[in-house]
Order: sequence, then C-alpha cells, then structure tokens
Amino acid sequence: MVTVETKNNLPKEVEVKEFLEKALAKYPYPIFTDKVLAEKEVIPHSNPILTIGAWNWIKNFDKPEVILFEIFVHEQFHWFTLSLDADVWNKAFTHIKAKYRRQGDVFDYHKYDKEKIFWIEFVVCFNTMRYLRKVLNKGEYNMVYDSRKNRPYPKTEKFIEKNFEKIDQDLKKFGLVYHQK
Ligand SMILES: [Zn+2]
Repeated sequence: MVTVETKNNLPKEVEVKEFLEKALAKYPYPIFTDKVLAEKEVIPHSNPILTIGAWNWIKNFDKPEVILFEIFVHEQFHWFTLSLDADVWNKAFTHIKAKYRRQGDVFDYHKYDKEKIFWIEFVVCFNTMRYLRKVLNKGEYNMVYDSRKNRPYPKTEKFIEKNFEKIDQDLKKFGLVYHQK
C-alpha cells in the first residue's frame, strides 16, 4: 500500500494526488518504496522520497492519471535498480554498454553527466515500458508514449520499443528485469 502526500497542499498538488490515487486504485503496481509526494512543478525523482511533479499540462490528457502512473512506475523502478547488487550492475554494465553503445546517436548521451546514469535510465525505461505493456490497454499505453515530445527520454524509448525482445533477453541474463513476486 502506497500513501500519497502533498508537499504544500497546493490545489494542483492535491489534484495530482487525487489523479494518482485513482490510478493506484485501478492498476496493479510495483512497490519498492511506499511513500509518494506530489510537489509543484518539480522534476520527478525517486530519492530520498519518490516525488512527482504537479503541472497544469497534465490536464491536457484524456486520462491524466495514466500519465502520472507512468511517472510513478518509472520512479519505483529506480528503487528496483537500487535494490540490486553492485556486482550485478558491474557485470551488466560491461555487457550492455558494449552491445548497445554501438547504436551511436540513438541515445541522448550528451544530456547525461555520467554514462552510468544513462544506463540506469535505460534499464528503468525498459522495465517501465515492459510493465505498462501488461497493465495498460493499448490506447492508454499509446497515450503515454505518443506524447514523446513531452518525455525526458524519447530516443531511448523509441530504441527500446524497436529492440524490445532483444533487450528483454539481455537484461534478463543479469536479473535486470522486474518480476512480480
Ligand atoms: Zn529516471
């Protein structure tokens, strides 16, 4: 069970809290951390508290709760990656870097200070897409991923979609794919 709180009880924070609670009541979700904060116009992040930004544009979507749900799942999967051993990561990084960096400019490397951060996002984006494929219907899924110009990792997501099965197999070898217990 996850509890959603607001940072300052602002109207748009309360709205985001309510939309997200609606999604959490409707869809099954991964729990690695059980506390969520809605905070005005903040960049979503996972640590130390899973925090979701509250923006007005969220209401431009037919189902704002689905957009927020994707952000929530993404940040939960950051906690999943934190739960993994350093050993697992080191082996996995060596492999996936060697294999996928050759794809060149499909990735937005330049946006990242550290390459490692990029690969963590790669694994998190993959797990999020994989999870949402199961839980959302096609229309909802497309609503999330068709809004790519509003998304932080559009090229990475496009690449993952195109190479989904291959990446699935590779990440599974290292225990980097989330399985519901
Ligand atoms: Zn992320």
